Amino acid sequence: MPQTEIRKKVVILGSGPAGLTAAIYASRAQLEPLVIDGPQPGGQLTITTDVENYPGFRSGIMGPILMDEFREQALRFGTEIINVWIDEVDLGKRPFTLYGKESVDSAEVTTIIKADTLIISTGASAKWLGIPGEAPVPEGLGGNGVSACATCDGFFFRERPIVVVGGGDTAMEEALFLTKFASKVTLIHRREEFRASKIMQDRVIAHDKIEILWNTEVLEINGTKETGVDNVRIYNNKTREETIYPTKGVFIAIGHKPNTDLFKGVLDMDDVGYLITEGRTMKTNIEGVFACGDAQDAYYRQADRRRDGLHGRNRRGEVFGRDGGGDPGKRGVELVIFVAPPTRRLSWGDSLSHERAALDRPFCPTLSHFGTNVGQPHDRESP
Ligand code: NAP
Repeated sequence: MPQTEIRKKVVILGSGPAGLTAAIYASRAQLEPLVIDGPQPGGQLTITTDVENYPGFRSGIMGPILMDEFREQALRFGTEIINVWIDEVDLGKRPFTLYGKESVDSAEVTTIIKADTLIISTGASAKWLGIPGEAPVPEGLGGNGVSACATCDGFFFRERPIVVVGGGDTAMEEALFLTKFASKVTLIHRREEFRASKIMQDRVIAHDKIEILWNTEVLEINGTKETGVDNVRIYNNKTREETIYPTKGVFIAIGHKPNTDLFKGVLDMDDVGYLITEGRTMKTNIEGVFACGDAQDAYYRQADRRRDGLHGRNRRGEVFGRDGGGDPGKRGVELVIFVAPPTRRLSWGDSLSHERAALDRPFCPTLSHFGTNVGQPHDRESP
């Protein structure tokens, strides 16, 4: 198959909230960014249900609809989005090179993408327990009663008992969502308190269809190819008792792992795989490569416009960046991107001024300071 070559000033790898936020700001800065969709365009929010804590939606919004809005907003300003699978990159010299294949299973490189600047927003994927029975069919019952996505698979468990494993917000959300289908939801958590936010815990605890098994670990998932899941073997780590607990479905909701394997040995990352960025900036150890969202943020892991894609101004409103600080002249031309509050319009001068007291507030504008050398953006106004 012939290869297509694409050359771009800014390439954004991943199209979740972080990637599309970066795209909105880069495209409004007339950098004509290219977003590369991963295997799950729109990211993890596309497999969630109601998002109640994203500002601006008083009645909440469905995750897939929110991501569709992000996408349309990015497209509106000239973002290009393509769907290729990237499993090889060369960050050794600029422009960086990304080798694209048609899908995860393809062997042949069909698209070569050259990028002056690369923004990594590859997100995170669900973690698994690593217990017998959990692996995908045919090795285990994954896809045949075992899942990590209630919105994808909940429908198949109409009037059947299911278990959810985990104690964080994801587990609460999955358990609540599954009550719409299941005859009973059993939430299994290894400790005697949840990690989830109070409001979500309260809803789960008050729900008459949800039973909670505290201090309990799932050791094994049992069933057959024909019957799917039949039960789980569980262990109470307080009483040290093992029991067989009947169920027809197992939803694993124990957190996520950043999708950064592609950058192992090239970019600095912590033990878990979160990309390490410099100070409060999005700069990685390679100049011109930035990381944001769940691939980089081990702490908040939320769709958050102050965090996603672009930030790097401290609470005093100071521009970050050791190599050039706030002076664009020191590094040639730099791209500075704002996420500004609606109450104040900003200009190029504002970003470089030392009179930033007006911006010194908890929800201050955030800003990215990319050494892209691609031209001063024309659009300097806040949204
Ligand atoms: P999380 O907060 O890291 O919680 C993971 C849960 O799984 C913890 O309760 C943990 O137990 C448990 N766990 C981890 N490994 C386990 C293992 N091997 N065996 C048994 N249990 C295990 O992950 P999350 O729930 O996916 O949430 C991630 C982030 O997204 C959080 O910041 C969360 O607030 C956010 N989020 C927000 C919303 C929302 O606002 N609507 C929805 C979903 C997620 P321990 O508690 O014992 O460590």
